[in-house]
Amino acid sequence: MTTTPERTGPVPLGMPVQAAFDDHRPPSAELVGDCVHCGFCLPTCPTYTLWGEEMDSPRGRVYLMKSGLEGEPMTDAMVQHFDACLGCMACVTACPSGVQYDRLIEATRAQVERRHDRPRSDRALRATIFALFPHKRRLRLMRGPLRAYQATGLQRLVRRSRALERIAPRLAAMADLAPPLTRPERLPGRIPALGRRRAVVGLLTGCVQGEFFPGVNAATARVLAAEGCDVIVPPRQGCCGALSVHNGREEEAKRYARRTIDVFEAAGVDAVVVNAAGCGSSMKEYADLLADDPGYAERARAFAGRVRDVSEFLAELGPVAERHPLEVSVAYHDACHLGHAQGVRAQPRALLRDIPGLQLREIPEAELCCGSAGIWNVLFPEPARELGDRKARNIASTGASLLVTANPGCLMQVASALQRQGARIAMAHTIEVLDASIRGLPVSALAVP
Ligand code: SF4
Ligand code: SF4
Repeated sequence: MTTTPERTGPVPLGMPVQAAFDDHRPPSAELVGDCVHCGFCLPTCPTYTLWGEEMDSPRGRVYLMKSGLEGEPMTDAMVQHFDACLGCMACVTACPSGVQYDRLIEATRAQVERRHDRPRSDRALRATIFALFPHKRRLRLMRGPLRAYQATGLQRLVRRSRALERIAPRLAAMADLAPPLTRPERLPGRIPALGRRRAVVGLLTGCVQGEFFPGVNAATARVLAAEGCDVIVPPRQGCCGALSVHNGREEEAKRYARRTIDVFEAAGVDAVVVNAAGCGSSMKEYADLLADDPGYAERARAFAGRVRDVSEFLAELGPVAERHPLEVSVAYHDACHLGHAQGVRAQPRALLRDIPGLQLREIPEAELCCGSAGIWNVLFPEPARELGDRKARNIASTGASLLVTANPGCLMQVASALQRQGARIAMAHTIEVLDASIRGLPVSALAVP
């Protein structure tokens, strides 16, 4: 078991003490007051499960927010407890009192990001991540070196020797997570509906999804078209801001959100369809993010109301395309930002169950995060590995031959954990399974480990 990250002490004597939060959108005292300290959330919290420390539980973090609101300073220790939160929102699902921990932690993170000085190495790592991941062109430039790294067998060698892990664990985590790269598939700006047109939808292609899992976007466009949708893929779309908002980079997140709204408004679509759970969950919260922006507040509200996860959208639309049999046993993994954050659990299961021949299996401890959580597995590689291994064992215990989930981060994290354990389970996005069924492809067409 990993130990809780090392804590540093309180503010040294003689230093001026500044309250943890300023007046710009601090965590709401009213929402903090909703917590009745019952502890129902504790067993579902991954950090509490790992370390058993009260301050690394949802209840403990809410307590820290309360003390910050009461004037306590923002100490390194306090920040470490907030940083260690995966933002998985399992506590939101578990809480019987309806504590809106999602809103609380987002407000807290923005305060931490503005008001706390991180160690230089931490700042440098975060700066590198945010200079890379939200930028499609930069990610594209990485494809060549990454393909060479994989094709020459260097990735396998580095994994086996674990040397990089000992010298630079965070770099090793990044290198280990890189999925096998397939040929890029660029989508046209408009994919016409097959048969009678039932809707016009916009497709968010995403940053990591678009560059590392282009087959998921292609499958999404094909399924939507087969179900009677004109699919618009605006070429000028960029990052939706999910990573930024989940890491307290408020101004950056707002810039990405405004641009996303502009681009999809101009496309004139009935719905904006998303196939990455983390992106969909933050796009549904644009109204909160841009609430103080007079030029965008109203537009953000209208936009958020049109955002749908692809499984949610297809369930609302109802099927018209024929499903062909797929004889396969599937373990479905709820991505936290789909299940906990968006409450979308029944729709992907229903889509899978509608495929003749497919057997659906539930994964034990389904509510527990796989340890991916945006960039958490890069910032905290050791506990992320422990959570990934636990998830992989639970998946393997189902005996399923295919693992299905709906988030690129989970796909990378779980694939790397399954590989470590030598489990030969293929992996695919929900929409790729549906696409294979509609096209009458064999199970072998789905991603192999
Ligand atoms: S969001 Fe997840 S990691 Fe954070 S407190 Fe809630 S359950 Fe724990
Ligand atoms: S967050 Fe909810 S479940 Fe957790 S201690 Fe507070 S009231 Fe109880």
